[in-house]
Amino acid sequence: MHVFPLATLDREPSDPANFTGPGSLRRIEGALSADPRVNVYRVHFEARSRTNWHTHSGHQMLFIVEGRCRYQKEGEPVGEAGPGDLIVVEPGENHWHGAAPGGAMTHIALNVNAVTSWGEPVSEDEYDAG
Ligand code: MN
Repeated sequence: MHVFPLATLDREPSDPANFTGPGSLRRIEGALSADPRVNVYRVHFEARSRTNWHTHSGHQMLFIVEGRCRYQKEGEPVGEAGPGDLIVVEPGENHWHGAAPGGAMTHIALNVNAVTSWGEPVSEDEYDAG
């Protein structure tokens, strides 16, 4: 058993090359020491901040911890999810996720054997289509 107290996790700013707006990331390194293919991140987005469009080569699970998560899969309407909700992204799906306009959002991202390929920023029009 391992415990990862939130206060012990280093926080780094999100990479402006791949994110629009302010946010931060805590890597939970070695969450599954026996399976290095599993990577866990706690990601915080300020209101309206979001990832660029991107794909993952493996599954991604997004556990919403606080706030409202705005998300979209290419070709589908913008959606929103709240605390306790789980979003599962299939390998290869082009998508984005971030905070809704009303306030900050935090999710835990659990990536399984997944390399991320980054695309273009989500435009204001795309974001506001929600
Ligand atoms: Mn993703």
